[in-house]
Amino acid sequence: SQRTILVATVSGLVTSRCPSFSCSPFNDRPMCRICHEGSSQEDLLSPCECTGTLGTIHRSCLEHWLSSSNTSYCELCHFRFAVERKPRPLVEWLRNPGPQHEKRTLFGDMVCFLFITPLATISGWLCLRGAVDHLHFSSRLEAVGLIALTVALFTIYLFWTLVSFRYHCRLYNEWRRTNQRVILLVPKSVSVPSNQQSLLGLHSVKRNSKETIV
Ligand SMILES: [Zn+2]
Ligand SMILES: [Zn+2]
Repeated sequence: SQRTILVATVSGLVTSRCPSFSCSPFNDRPMCRICHEGSSQEDLLSPCECTGTLGTIHRSCLEHWLSSSNTSYCELCHFRFAVERKPRPLVEWLRNPGPQHEKRTLFGDMVCFLFITPLATISGWLCLRGAVDHLHFSSRLEAVGLIALTVALFTIYLFWTLVSFRYHCRLYNEWRRTNQRVILLVPKSVSVPSNQQSLLGLHSVKRNSKETIV
């Protein structure tokens, strides 16, 4: 809004000094309101009800903004864009699951799982074999003790796996919800042709200068 006021003030000054609108710098080059670049790299769109310098935007800039802000409407005029949201693949999350600490936790838990699974399996198998041997030599107490140990080992292993899995599932679902690929469903005709852009610029100067007077 500070920028809007500045633009309004500057354009007000320009229009009050110039007899015609031709010398206003805002007429010459319409730019994207997010990256402030012109239409040389990518066509500018005017997809919402905003006009003037705030009315033009690149498709990619808008899609990126809608994706990162997790909204589907213009933050200024509250126009609701027609968008299609596509969830990103799981591989992308595994590669970059978010903040640094989440990345570390996911990596650590995956390494732990890969180490603990064979370890738990081997220990369980050895315990059971020991129990069978003890039963064979009719020392029941040791056999029962070893079976109890195996059960305890597997309970702890399953509990840890379940808790970690649920934790990462929750993080993944949250990531999936907030990191969707946004595709703007704007027909090509909405894209602003160059002669109309200068008219839009003119309109904004008029509008802004009116705002300055008020
Ligand atoms: Zn842009
Ligand atoms: Zn708008």
